[in-house]
Amino acid sequence: MEELVKLPGVGRKTANVVLSNAFGKDAIAVDTHVFRVSNRIGLAKSEDVFETEKHLMENIPRDMWSSAHHLLIWHGRNLCTARNPKCLECPINDLCDFYNNKQVKGKFR
Ligand code: SF4
Repeated sequence: MEELVKLPGVGRKTANVVLSNAFGKDAIAVDTHVFRVSNRIGLAKSEDVFETEKHLMENIPRDMWSSAHHLLIWHGRNLCTARNPKCLECPINDLCDFYNNKQVKGKFR
């Protein structure tokens, strides 16, 4: 990580992708989908990308970090989209803070 982020144009997200996909290291790259989905679900609770990465590393077993990154992106592209997430179709809505808060407020009844 320290060496990669010294390269021009390489931040933590890109470095984590390289560490995970090219070097097979455990890493969670937080892109826009990972950030949105993980904070909606409650796997992270932060408005900051680096802090979100730290929350995810605390809440997800290390050997699942890389697959969690891909799963959160998939979920963000297909169901938990930025606008109009498909919460009523979502198989994990019972686990999701965003959905449960809206249900409490009567927005999904
Ligand atoms: S219930 Fe809605 S907000 Fe929660 S993860 Fe599913 S699609 Fe996203």
